[in-house]
Amino acid sequence: MYLTKLAKEVEWLKTLRVPEMRRLPLRTLWRIRRMLKDEKLVRVDGKVMINSFLPPVPSEAFRGLARGLHALTQGRAVPVSTYVAVTNACPYRCWHCSREFRVGSDMPLGTMLGAIRELQALGVSIIGLTGGEPLVRKDLEQIVAGIDERSVSILFTSGAGLTPGRARALKRAGLFGVAVSLDHYEPGIHDARRGRPGAFETALNAIRASKRMGFYTMLQLVATRDVIEGGSIPRYLALAQELGVHEIRVLEPMPAGRLLHGDPSCFLKPHERQELHRLHQRTNRSRRLPKVCAFAYVEDAGMFGCGAGFQHMYIDAAGNVCPCDFTPISFGNVRHESVQAVWQRLNEAFARPRRRCFLLENAAALRRQFDGTLPIPYEELKDSCRFRCRDGVPRYYRELGWRTEGGTRQKSKVEGSKVEGREAPCRGCEVDCFYCL
Ligand code: SF4
Ligand code: SF4
Repeated sequence: MYLTKLAKEVEWLKTLRVPEMRRLPLRTLWRIRRMLKDEKLVRVDGKVMINSFLPPVPSEAFRGLARGLHALTQGRAVPVSTYVAVTNACPYRCWHCSREFRVGSDMPLGTMLGAIRELQALGVSIIGLTGGEPLVRKDLEQIVAGIDERSVSILFTSGAGLTPGRARALKRAGLFGVAVSLDHYEPGIHDARRGRPGAFETALNAIRASKRMGFYTMLQLVATRDVIEGGSIPRYLALAQELGVHEIRVLEPMPAGRLLHGDPSCFLKPHERQELHRLHQRTNRSRRLPKVCAFAYVEDAGMFGCGAGFQHMYIDAAGNVCPCDFTPISFGNVRHESVQAVWQRLNEAFARPRRRCFLLENAAALRRQFDGTLPIPYEELKDSCRFRCRDGVPRYYRELGWRTEGGTRQKSKVEGSKVEGREAPCRGCEVDCFYCL
């Protein structure tokens, strides 16, 4: 399933067949290649996946990404990924659910398809379908079919409702990947975290159905402190291997939704994030272990950093456009405005990529403004959140020639910070951020 070193090099060279890639300076391509050296490549359905943050190669979606890369070298950001919550409904009640307190009725099919058309026109190459539990929607197949080959579609699910029949229908509609949440290798612990007995078995059946149908199949693990420190990772990896999944996406509890006012002790400390960082590198360097995509690594300043509102956005079930799935700040609603207009407003506020997680830095301001419903309108937060920061840019953008000057985007030679693979040190700013807790 995983490519050998030699096959990997051949596949990297093959990306040069994509005309849009050849428009980039060779030096830039070489630097990006070097940056991604730890990634384990997977072949699925005749395509090669680097990780679930990037579209498969070759594909129309990858060509779109390459066009976006070129735009970045010109100082212009194109949204690479957008996750759309297709419903707020869900049969589970997870302790960490970020959808909690989101209000409003689900977007009707027509609005959703219109938003997808606009996202594709903007150049979005990865469209994630999330929720709530997206499979609750009976018209999910029509939503998937509304995404043409310019983007790949990924379903984020608890597994509830992913029967073999449904998996077949989604495959016919053009779905590419399925990510099933699995919080633990112990059935009882997973069920308790999902708030429903039988959730573990449901997730495993969904993974099997996804594999049988040939989807790029992922597990999603919310890595809690006990998972990291309690020695459960090796057994989790063994289960993933037994199930034959292509990738394990490792997230962490975030101060959003049910955890907006969560006990600070449930959030990871920098050294625990470092542990996930090492897990990403260690597993991907070994051919024996499954492929891991740890957000702590990918969103680190030494890699892509935080893309919220800069190259990523999230549309909630009611149509509110937010910087990312966890950051409940609405910049407008696609029921009343074009996606293009809201994206412009969002991207003006998030004018450049960040080295650190916007949400972790600004959770205290969000908590202060929270009145029982989410999301919070941008206008109410624009003076209390740290939208502009001057910490330098993450490595990926530095490689593309970005630097920061007075909070504005500039494309030119970079001096950049040398902090790589580590969080930038605290700058003693006035914002009460989670990094300091
Ligand atoms: S985290 Fe997902 S599965 Fe759990 S309650 Fe929230 S929407 Fe449902
Ligand atoms: S705000 Fe945090 S959770 Fe959201 S995209 Fe940025 S790093 Fe990820």
